[in-house]
Amino acid sequence: MKLVKPLGNELNIKRYVGLLPELDELFELIELVGSWGTVKLLGEIEHSDHVFPLIGIVLGTEDKTVPTFSLFSGVHGLERIGSQVSLAYLRTFLNLLQWDKSTQDVLKRNRLVLLPVINPVGMFLKRRSNGQGVDLMRNAPVKAEKLHPLSLYGGHRISSKLPWYQGPFNAPMEYEAQILCRFVREEVFESKVAISVDVHSGYGARDRFWFPYAKTRNPFKHLAEVFALKSMLDKTYPNHIYKIEPQSRQYVTHGDLWDYLYDQHQSLEGNRLFLPFCLEMGSWLWVRKNFRQMFSILGVFNPITRHRLQRTLRRHIHLFDFLFRAIQSPGHWAEIPPNEKIILRKQAIDFWYDD
Ligand SMILES: [Zn+2]
Repeated sequence: MKLVKPLGNELNIKRYVGLLPELDELFELIELVGSWGTVKLLGEIEHSDHVFPLIGIVLGTEDKTVPTFSLFSGVHGLERIGSQVSLAYLRTFLNLLQWDKSTQDVLKRNRLVLLPVINPVGMFLKRRSNGQGVDLMRNAPVKAEKLHPLSLYGGHRISSKLPWYQGPFNAPMEYEAQILCRFVREEVFESKVAISVDVHSGYGARDRFWFPYAKTRNPFKHLAEVFALKSMLDKTYPNHIYKIEPQSRQYVTHGDLWDYLYDQHQSLEGNRLFLPFCLEMGSWLWVRKNFRQMFSILGVFNPITRHRLQRTLRRHIHLFDFLFRAIQSPGHWAEIPPNEKIILRKQAIDFWYDD
């Protein structure tokens, strides 16, 4: 695989048509962006006679300090449904923009940022890792605490032939991971209140909504804010389907990109908030309802039957819409007085960290 350095913003779509259905859908949607934002060619990756683009979309005002909601997907090449879910939201949002005055109004004071296909070569090769055999979600320079040394799942440096490979010792981050991190730093970090969601699939039978950390079972700094946000979601959508929890409640890993970005953001000056979440869609449910899926590698991570795919594509639009609303109205969860914050944090620790 040959890596090509990031280019300017010259995007010649024809070059990439037909490589992946998810990219083709993105090209179709790009047509609707118009003057509402910019489409950025963040980089290119050459692999087996093809060139794959990394494409970012930024909608809304050019003022980067405004509230920013961002959506990422396709980190793991097998979890195509993640990209399909974020494209479904983008489709709805862009079509609303064509006629809905309130959506148009939202973009005057807020931003929506997306990178829907982060690992196109992995997707093309039908594998979790990137073209180099590296698991991008184990690739950041973050070391987990109290992880068993023989745990492969949490990340290892034994061989790219095994899943969950972190990459070689002391190597720079993989190209895709670098592009993602740079994009987040450039387009999200300046925002005074930002929420991001990275969409994955495959773990368990429920849809889990994870917040940091993946690297440690210790509570992270913004627990009170997340707990307040969870209370708002519980009240606003009492029948929602999400199990909201710190990722480390399920498993601990090395190299989580969002741990890395969150910590990096923490080191910045100024009063700003960046909360990175992961939506882990439980695929065991799809497998249980259609057992034959077990025997296909894509089937383990994606809904195969048409009605289940449709259900999944519409299932999360409410959540993304809720989060986009939440950043626009931070008063009830992100701007809590210090004394209330102490109480909320204690409640959150009792709720999530009691054991
Ligand atoms: Zn994943």
